This record gives sequence, C-alpha cells and structure tokens, in this order.
Amino acid sequence: MTGAQIIVLATPVFLLSIAIEYTVGVRRGRNTYRLNDMLNSVGLGIMSQLVGVYGALISVAVYTLAFEHVTLWKLPSTSAWVWIAGLVVYDFCYYWRHRLGHTVALFWAAHVVHHQSEDYNLSTALRQTSSGWIGDWLFYLPMALLGFPPLVFAVVTLVDLLYQFWVHTQQIGKLGWFDRWFCAPSNHRVHHAVNDKYLDKNYGGILLIWDRLFRSHIAEDDAEPCVYGTRGPLRSWNPLWANAHHYADLAKDSWRTRRWSDKLRVWFMPPGWRPADVAACWPKPPFDITTVQRYDPPMSRRAHWLAAALFVLLLGGTALFLWNAHLLALPQQLFCVGGLLTGLWCVGRISEPRVRMAAAESAAADPTRDAAQAAAPR
Ligand SMILES: [Zn+2]
Ligand SMILES: [Zn+2]
Repeated sequence: MTGAQIIVLATPVFLLSIAIEYTVGVRRGRNTYRLNDMLNSVGLGIMSQLVGVYGALISVAVYTLAFEHVTLWKLPSTSAWVWIAGLVVYDFCYYWRHRLGHTVALFWAAHVVHHQSEDYNLSTALRQTSSGWIGDWLFYLPMALLGFPPLVFAVVTLVDLLYQFWVHTQQIGKLGWFDRWFCAPSNHRVHHAVNDKYLDKNYGGILLIWDRLFRSHIAEDDAEPCVYGTRGPLRSWNPLWANAHHYADLAKDSWRTRRWSDKLRVWFMPPGWRPADVAACWPKPPFDITTVQRYDPPMSRRAHWLAAALFVLLLGGTALFLWNAHLLALPQQLFCVGGLLTGLWCVGRISEPRVRMAAAESAAADPTRDAAQAAAPR
C-alpha cells in the first residue's frame, strides 16, 4: 500500500474530526472555522498530496541511494527497537528540518504554506506545502547513514505526520506534564502564533524535549492570546500562489539588489532579511500586531454553495486518483493532476469574487501601491 493510499483511507477520519471540532466550537460559542479558509487549507493539503506523488519519489530515491551506498551499517527492519529508535531519530531530524524551515528563507518559502492560515483548527493541519521535496531529503540523510531501512523511514515519516493532526485545535486546553514532553495543542498553538513572544518556538514534531534541549521552548501564556498566520500575510485563496509567493518575493529581492553576494544571501538569510539597497528603494512597513486583520473577502450564499460543491467533487476525484495513480500512464496522471489543480484554483476564484477587481481598481488609482504594499518582513 502506498503512502498516498493510506492518506486516502485516513481522509474520512480527518473530515469526521473536523466536523466534530466544528460542532464542539459552535456549541461552546467558540467556532474557529470559516468556510473559505477551510477550503483553502484542505485544498492545499490536496495539492500537496497530488504533487507529493512525484515529490516523494525524490525523497525516497535519495534516501535509498544513501542507504544502499554510503550507510555505515544496515539495521534489520524485523527488530522492534529499530522502529522505535527510527521514530526518535526521525523526530530529531524533523526538529532541525522544521527549525531551519523557520530560520532560512529558502526553506521558509516551502514551509510558509503550513502557517498561512489566520485560523487555527484541524483543517490547518492538512495545509501542507507542495515544494517540500526541494530540500526535505537533506535533513533525513543522517538517518540513512545510521542504517535505518527505507521502509522504516517511510513508515515513521507517516507516523510523525499523522500524529501532528490532532494538535491543531483551540478546543483542547493545556494538558499539564504532557505539554512539557510532547507536541500538544497548547504548545503548537504557540508555534503558529506571530506574537513577538511566541515567534519561532516549539518546533518539535512528536517530542518537545528537542525544544527544551536546544532552547526553543516556550509555554502558552493565558495573558497573551495567540494571533495566527504569518507576518507577511498571503491575502489570497489561490493555492498555486500560496505555494509560490514567498519564492517570488525572494526572487524579486535577489533580482533587484546590485551586490552579487546579496543576490545569493537573500535565499539563505533568516526570513525577513533584505539587502540594504532593496529595503531602501522598496520599503516594507514593520509588522504591527495591532493592525492584523484576517483575510475574509465577502462571499454570497450562492458562492458558498458553489465553492463547497466543487470542492466535494475535487475531494472525490483526488481520492480516486491517489488510489489508482500507479495504474495510470504518466500522460494520464499529468492530465488528472492538471485537472484537479485547475479545479482547486477555481474554488479559490469563487471564494474571492470581487477581490481581483478591487485590487485592479486600487492599483489604477494609486500606481505606487506595489512599492508600499502592506507586507511585513515575513
Ligand atoms: Zn512551522
Ligand atoms: Zn502546525
């Protein structure tokens, strides 16, 4: 069974959990869902799975090559401790992958997708990048060198990912000692917050002990409510742009700066760093948490129904495709992926009917808008 097929089997559980969380939230008077945001988050999860059919090939191929040719020794996949140790070593590698995903601009350009939602609920967990395959494989090479078989790597990857689903909720409060040892709703809310106090903390996937060891842990403070999203908000429901926008920002800064060393540094400095000449000519206002407004363009009732109906069709189509992808020839696969991605783009367009028109009007009225657009450093 492929990883994509396991995700297909898990999808009803994801959707049922989302329905339960929504119902609990409504009953408590603390609903954390908006339809447009949820469709966008789950849509990005679908896109990530579609692209992942090919992206995973790169990760697994590189891992297998390293395991076959440069490993120090080979551990047996028949031993239970190999699986347990494999999960711990994977979680350690995940911690560093995640930490560098927040502190190196190139890796943040991929990981930012998971943080773009300005809501925080179980659908946020499904919001995953489609470009992780560019650099993720690098962080797991130590695991291959230590001799963990590719099968162990593939399974613990899935376990670590699936574990993190339940922590994306505001309906579960603090859990005492559990919060200090494991990734949990309280400490992961902090991870998704843009408050100064919380920024770039709590990277752990399953174990939080890595954060305590490497001094990136902070507990949720009831006096400082989390504000979710990123400091350079996406303000779009276009799933393709969600994956591309930070790369585009970096490419723009790299193109504009005059110094050759800065053209390269743009990609490897912490997110938000900009060459002095670019920052002087194209300034961005500093982030101010008091001005944060969630992106929520108005939708008619008809648009709500249309977006939801199209989305359900795409969800069914994706499940069918992921289940049968290995039976299709490459041109057929690409045709299906192209059709499904176009459908997801349409859901985004239906969810923001007047935004593009309004943006065009305001750009025509104010030609300096691009230089001063309201985007903070990250
Ligand atoms: Zn993160
Ligand atoms: Zn998360």
